[in-house]
Amino acid sequence: MTLNGDALRLALPNKGRLAEPALQLLRDAGLEVETSTASLTASARNYELDLLFVRAEDVPEYVADGLVDAGITGIDLVEERSPGLNAVLELGFGGCSLALAVPRSASVQSPEGLAGCRVATSFPRLTRSYFEERGIEAQVIEVRGAVEVTPQLGVADAVVDLVATGGTMRLNGLRPIATLLNSQAVLVTHAGQPDERWQPLVAMLSSVIDARGKEYMMMNAPAAALDRIRELIPGLSGPTVMPLADPSMIAVHSVVERANLWRLVPALKAAGARDILVVPIEKVVR
Ligand code: AMP
Repeated sequence: MTLNGDALRLALPNKGRLAEPALQLLRDAGLEVETSTASLTASARNYELDLLFVRAEDVPEYVADGLVDAGITGIDLVEERSPGLNAVLELGFGGCSLALAVPRSASVQSPEGLAGCRVATSFPRLTRSYFEERGIEAQVIEVRGAVEVTPQLGVADAVVDLVATGGTMRLNGLRPIATLLNSQAVLVTHAGQPDERWQPLVAMLSSVIDARGKEYMMMNAPAAALDRIRELIPGLSGPTVMPLADPSMIAVHSVVERANLWRLVPALKAAGARDILVVPIEKVVR
């Protein structure tokens, strides 16, 4: 790490499922970062930013203790470890939820049914406060890893664990009955950290996050179809409409959600659009 007093210090997960997407986000935002597996630190070549690679679960403590100015990690880990931090920006990856689940064969339908039961989790703080807030007396057992097998081993009656697709829970014969928290990766700063220092970086990251999932669409259409096309693609601030050499025709450009394309393209064609081009967007700066 450069000993540059002015450089911002950012903690990133060194491995696990958040590590690669976090680094990719910085690179997509234009930061030139070279990392090597052996190194715990790195610096951006074209920005005053030093990176420190630590375990995802340790990122909140590094930020809270002021060892770094900000960090990237999951909301779940922030809420469990250092809930007072400022979540400055949701980063749109690492989506999952923290769920309470019971064996499929159990008759329990709600958290209230777990009074007097044992609940295994690697999120003891969040689990305890969840039951306490509801006045339910459950015994919280802290385990590290393999939480979902504890009911089969007979050491717990229920679990509180992270779920993304639900596949792992199903595979282990578990049935979710409540959600404690919805999570994704976030940029967090210390509550006392002035926002201005982070504004340029937050703006760069936001422009990439906004562009993800969006495409730029161009098409030609009969001028008479414009009203229908406008209904179909409202765009960021309405579609751009341009005249063509043939006065009965127009060109329409717009930003669209990628997830809507499969529905949108047939509807546009039915409205008379043709020569439809869809191209990727790198950044959206507002
Ligand atoms: P790691 O254990 O280092 O791979 O990272 C765990 C973090 O990744 C969690 O704390 C969540 O923020 C996030 N995450 C996203 N999806 C999942 C999932 N299906 N299971 C566990 N963690 C997930």
